[in-house]
Amino acid sequence: MAEELERQRDRAPARFGGLDYAPAPEATDHVTLRADHGLLIGGRWVAPASERSFKTINPATEEVLAEVAEAGDEDVDAAVKAARAAYAKVWSRMPGAERAKYLYRIARILQERAREFAVLETMNGGKPIKESRDVDLPLAAAHFFYHAGWADKLDYAFPGRRPAPLGVAAQVIPWNFPLLMAAWKLAPALAAGNTVVLKPAETTPLTALRLGEVLQEAELPEGVVNILTGAGATGAALVGHGGVDKVAFTGSTEVGKAIQRTLAGSGRKLTLELGGKAANIVFEDAPLDQAVEGIVNGIYFNQGHVCCAGSRLLVQESIAEPLVDKLKRRMATLRVGDPLDKNTDVGAINSRAQLDKIQELVASGEADGAEAWQAPCELPTRGFWFRPTVFTAVAQSYRIAQEEIFGPVLSVLTFRTPDEAVEKANNTPYGLSAGVWTDKGSRILELANRMRAGVVWANTFNRFDPTSPFGGYKESGFGREGGRHGLAAYLDLSS
Ligand code: NDP
Repeated sequence: MAEELERQRDRAPARFGGLDYAPAPEATDHVTLRADHGLLIGGRWVAPASERSFKTINPATEEVLAEVAEAGDEDVDAAVKAARAAYAKVWSRMPGAERAKYLYRIARILQERAREFAVLETMNGGKPIKESRDVDLPLAAAHFFYHAGWADKLDYAFPGRRPAPLGVAAQVIPWNFPLLMAAWKLAPALAAGNTVVLKPAETTPLTALRLGEVLQEAELPEGVVNILTGAGATGAALVGHGGVDKVAFTGSTEVGKAIQRTLAGSGRKLTLELGGKAANIVFEDAPLDQAVEGIVNGIYFNQGHVCCAGSRLLVQESIAEPLVDKLKRRMATLRVGDPLDKNTDVGAINSRAQLDKIQELVASGEADGAEAWQAPCELPTRGFWFRPTVFTAVAQSYRIAQEEIFGPVLSVLTFRTPDEAVEKANNTPYGLSAGVWTDKGSRILELANRMRAGVVWANTFNRFDPTSPFGGYKESGFGREGGRHGLAAYLDLSS
């Protein structure tokens, strides 16, 4: 009851004299949903030999959006063979300048159809439309543009080497940035002259399937990209297929380890982009209002379904209280709800399974003795939702400080000295990203050097660019995506 009263008192509209945002729903009538989808193999949409399919839903409403094919072993084999034939006959022989034209074309079509893709991404994944519209789509197109630029300049990218493609790449991607992860994977692979079999995540297959249509519209030669929908078993069959030369995976550390075991000793190339538990470190000389925006963007962007999310806030003890107060006030203004509403800040949790996982970890934090505070907001009655949450009084040993929650849940820890901040930041099995907020440039450079994190943001968080390599240390995986480093992962540079 007391909690409810506090919620009502803290509600943002009351502070603005009872004004609230009017609904601003994005139209969906320009997105045609197909009732069922086949697999893209050898340039054609085919029914699965497995004769199996599954339903994909909108996590904000639990409505079924479409029926999607579930690829079995036979389908995986057909897709790998189609990719091999396209590699040998067409793609590996094509001059880089010609490959580039296809990539430019794909980028431009994505831009032209950006609105359709953004709406579909939001419907299938639950992320706010303003994020799919302003982040996922522009970045996906940017990855194709950027890599198109490299396709005919590989000799200059790696002077003194003779870069050669690897062959057939198996790419398995997660559900948090479905189209963007497809772009991160496909663009460098194709620019380098490889062909691909791509498996999107079970809960978010629709934009990858529509991307298949874009590839056809761009007249990409048949078999250069094959798209297989399915669940974990399809992914396992694909990465274990003997005809694959390179595996690129983004997802959980657990599955990443299983894939590494499968590939051990095979000589096939592997890159793994896995989980994270990033420290976002705020020093007492930081601009606090700006830091609060960075903290919110770091953990509540995309409902916290972000591998590099700033899920551990390390704040200098002297400013912990005012900073957490400011943070809670800001959190109270976050609009949680219909992902298709242009005013929504935090959308739906991607699946029932992910919501269960978040709830279980939050319960463990409470049981351990941490103090939870949740943004006062009404949640829709249907769909999967979780209030933006912040935990204080967190000890480093708690599961909420150690494990990836992959939801809108922040754990706050304090430190006194820069050494202590570094020690706590590095006290994690992961090493994907980190953030530093301070007025001192020298401190930023020092911390960036001492932290075992692949990406360190300074006075900002969650910024991405195709030119900038992204990837982790330790249990966050190995290999880089983006920039020249990302390109190298799809090339044989031994001669
Ligand atoms: P997974 O690692 O299971 O999924 C990632 C992709 O791998 C999906 O396409 C999945 O298919 C596929 N896959 C699953 N099992 C195998 C396998 N044995 N061999 C090959 N491919 C496989 O992540 P979950 O979706 O289960 O999420 C679990 C947790 O992982 C989350 O709670 C989060 O903590 C973390 N995660 C981290 C991500 C990151 O970017 N670092 C992204 C997603 C999740 P399918 O979807 O059908 O299961």
